[in-house]
Amino acid sequence: MKRSMAALASAGAIAAVVASMIAGAAAPAVAAPKSGDEGRIKNVIYLLGDGMGRTHVTAGRERFYGAAGRLNMETMPAQGYVQTYAIQKNSGQPGQPDFVPNLVTDSASAATAWSSGVKTYNAALGVDGKGQVVPTVMELAKKAGYRTGNVSTAEITDATPAGQMTHLLARGCQGPVYSAKSCQDTQITGSELPTSDIRVVPAAKQIARNGTADVIFGGGLSRFDAADEQALKDQGYQVLGSAASQTVASADELQAASGDKVFGLFNKGNLTVEKAKQDHPDTAEAKEPKLAELTQKAISLLDGKGAKGNGFYLQVEGALIDKRSHANDAAQTLEEIKAFDDAVKVALDFAKADGHTLVIVTADHECAGFNIIEKGSFTNAEAANPPVNVDSGNPANNSTPSRPGGNTKDPSRSTGIVNGAGSADPHNFAPATFRTPDDAADVADGSPEASLWLTYLSGNHTGADVPIYAYGSGSDKVQGTIENTDLFGIVADALRLR
Ligand SMILES: [Zn+2]
Repeated sequence: MKRSMAALASAGAIAAVVASMIAGAAAPAVAAPKSGDEGRIKNVIYLLGDGMGRTHVTAGRERFYGAAGRLNMETMPAQGYVQTYAIQKNSGQPGQPDFVPNLVTDSASAATAWSSGVKTYNAALGVDGKGQVVPTVMELAKKAGYRTGNVSTAEITDATPAGQMTHLLARGCQGPVYSAKSCQDTQITGSELPTSDIRVVPAAKQIARNGTADVIFGGGLSRFDAADEQALKDQGYQVLGSAASQTVASADELQAASGDKVFGLFNKGNLTVEKAKQDHPDTAEAKEPKLAELTQKAISLLDGKGAKGNGFYLQVEGALIDKRSHANDAAQTLEEIKAFDDAVKVALDFAKADGHTLVIVTADHECAGFNIIEKGSFTNAEAANPPVNVDSGNPANNSTPSRPGGNTKDPSRSTGIVNGAGSADPHNFAPATFRTPDDAADVADGSPEASLWLTYLSGNHTGADVPIYAYGSGSDKVQGTIENTDLFGIVADALRLR
């Protein structure tokens, strides 16, 4: 069933009134504008935890700051939720007659939503649901004289960072060695496109040549080749490490970097997860810069150098929250949430001192149905006979799990706590347990005594709304429930791009 444009418009109008009432009732504390500039926003720092759902935030808080604590992102005054759904291939936009939603998004369609303000199909970057190229807010900011930066712990050609800097029918088209097939999508275009069409030019080729981001930090060096490195140098980029020799950038090079345009990739693939760095401190990978350090350096390279008095637009992605959630690795997921939140603190500290910076923190989608369960309990997946749904649409809600033989755990489905003795068993559906700062000093991770019990529903994305937090002038737009496509307008308006 399709909703009419009129229904959408009136629903939108009501939502706007409600939002303004809410915003009026609880106006967030915003840094006072500095003299003569009337709160003008010069900079936007947009941070996202890939795959970071509401429970990821709660679990991160409890793990690192205790039950009564707060992550840095949770201290931000404006808070709300983001609708993350995508659309099917060849679908129109919401409100159009040919609108067909896809309720679970991937990172590509989500990145396109906030980068370009359109819903698109999963795997699409910088094109709408029908494959038409749409401009990105980073491209518009660059054109308007802002400095621009793009930082990620993933390969920089991966969907989230690439969403601001490329236009692709298929996110797998990354480079340099690729099959032409991975770049084409004839379901969208009807026939194969010539290789000169931007929509089938690999992400690395586009990023190395279009100058969309002045500062590029992340992983994915193996996506780039000698010709890409030369193209970057021809545009004046200071290249840390070398694509030609496949030498990754080092933390020392990062510290010394001082160019207006800097390109540094610190791993051939994704950056190394923080827990692996902690567990193996003597490896080369352990010396890779943390996301907070990359964020700090990017801000210092971008700040105060925009044309026409303009500032900068910086996107920062904590990518490995998602990648480790896909793997149902709670220990690594938690450390990635902490590393991302530490980068949020860097952005917030800058914004508070600056007074002209809007900071937005959100996610693209939830990943893996992360759950906090009661200490000492077990999941349905571990049960001898997982319960059937006995709700049956009856208005009298009766969803108490009914198990023949009682509420018992099946040892063949659960051999113990997954980050404890049972961790090697692939059939183990058990929770992973973690100590928190509230636990007694002798309580260990992976023990039944630890208070934080975590489980996963699946190894894939879910359709849950994600949280959003904002600080600074313009943060009042980030209240209540918004569409991921609204983020395009919120940033574009903050930077006066439309
Ligand atoms: Zn994912």
